[in-house]
Amino acid sequence: MADFDTIIIGAGPGGYVAAIRAAQLGQKVACVEGRETLGGTCLNVGCIPSKAMLHATHMLHETHENFEKMGLMGAHPTVDWQKMQAYKDDVVNGNTTGIALLFKKNKVTWIKGWATIPAPGQVKVGEDTHSARNIVIATGSEASSIPNVTIDEETVVTSTGALTLKSVPKSMVVIGAGVIGLEMGSVYARLGTQVTVVEYLDAITPGMDAEVAKTFQRILTKQGLKFVLGAAVQSVTKTATGATVAYKLKKNDTEASLDADIVLVATGRKPYTAGLGLEALGVEMGPRGTIKTDAHWQTNIPGIYAIGDAIAGPMLAHKAEDEGMAVAEVISGKHGHVNYGVIPGVIYTTPEVANVGLTEEQLKAEGRAYKVGKFPFMGNARAKAVFQAEGFVKLIADAATDRILGCHIIGPAAGDLIHEVCVAMEFGASAQDLALTCHAHPTWSEAVREAALACGDGAIHA
Ligand code: NAD
Repeated sequence: MADFDTIIIGAGPGGYVAAIRAAQLGQKVACVEGRETLGGTCLNVGCIPSKAMLHATHMLHETHENFEKMGLMGAHPTVDWQKMQAYKDDVVNGNTTGIALLFKKNKVTWIKGWATIPAPGQVKVGEDTHSARNIVIATGSEASSIPNVTIDEETVVTSTGALTLKSVPKSMVVIGAGVIGLEMGSVYARLGTQVTVVEYLDAITPGMDAEVAKTFQRILTKQGLKFVLGAAVQSVTKTATGATVAYKLKKNDTEASLDADIVLVATGRKPYTAGLGLEALGVEMGPRGTIKTDAHWQTNIPGIYAIGDAIAGPMLAHKAEDEGMAVAEVISGKHGHVNYGVIPGVIYTTPEVANVGLTEEQLKAEGRAYKVGKFPFMGNARAKAVFQAEGFVKLIADAATDRILGCHIIGPAAGDLIHEVCVAMEFGASAQDLALTCHAHPTWSEAVREAALACGDGAIHA
């Protein structure tokens, strides 16, 4: 008899969720994690600490921008960097210890250490080899750099180093205008750092609805971020005071450079699978270092599964969580399912940016007929009352059937508002279904309803 029904390798959002669900479904489960704390990149050095920093610096920004407008007078707060870091660490600790408690509650064994898979059905951690009927690889991803750039996590940092800088830098160059670059760039811009974002493409946030991306860039520019677009970074060289970023403009091959105290490399992430022994096992790999899986997250080796950032698809904690629950159901003899067409994406800047489903650009490329309902937050009373009236909701529906195909929001609480549309899409709802649903007044969510109304006979407040 095997030591465990299932051993999960990695305790990030994919792995710990898979472990809890498999245990809830009656399996004897172990989860191997080499970090000192559970929660993976997301809880330890990703989503959670960055949200703490975004919250603290948003509050600071509010005091400077809007407090006096509301009659809140007095000295503006100054930044105690050590204290802000301690707040962030407390938030992380609260979350990681919470997962340890959930493991105890669900009787999931945490095997501390780094795992290898010497043979199907076996997981080796240190000197001990454990057997299991199923193995789930949930090892996540790591930052991927670009040629001629050496990361030292002090001057030239990834998102991990950017969360623990010794002090607030005077200047920062961010390489890559993706999610990490813009979230962390926002944090430091609000702290007074001169932030310049250098991006290879001609627009920020690749893949995002073009109108949202344009509005987003305009708003961030107003907040003090500078952008150099269409620029391929060639190298980063450390100097006595910081580093120099050399880049080439794609349009005319002009070379230029920028000096900064800190350089944040945010050029994407790659699956983290090194050291597991996958090659010796003959596990088939897909493009860009991903592990190839079938529709049930099983690799070509029976009994070995993989989920999350280590396989194909968007590298998002919630996509990994969904796969974690689904794979646990599959290996428990149930029917796990993930609807990859309804996975929201959120950027936690101010304003937030969120999307789900298809963009106009994708629909045009597919030659499909669609209609767009757009509503600006300027027409939303609640947004205006709290100085967050920038941005809009854009709902896209099928031209013939009115079925919702996608939604793109830039504005207050966009990351929460998007879920109304996610649920609607899961139920195959039409724009009219949303439009006919009573929305409380005054809420930001009325903007979603107005966008749905705009898909039909028209919005009321625009
Ligand atoms: P990303 O893929 O979102 O963006 C990387 C950017 O770097 C791209 O715009 C790319 O064009 C640019 N780039 C690449 N090489 C370059 C070069 N030589 N010069 C200039 N620009 C260059 O990657 P990221 O922001 O590093 O994030 C990594 C992953 O983590 C993503 O999958 C992201 O979805 C995920 N993540 C998500 C969240 C969230 O959901 N809020 C937060 C953080 C990270």
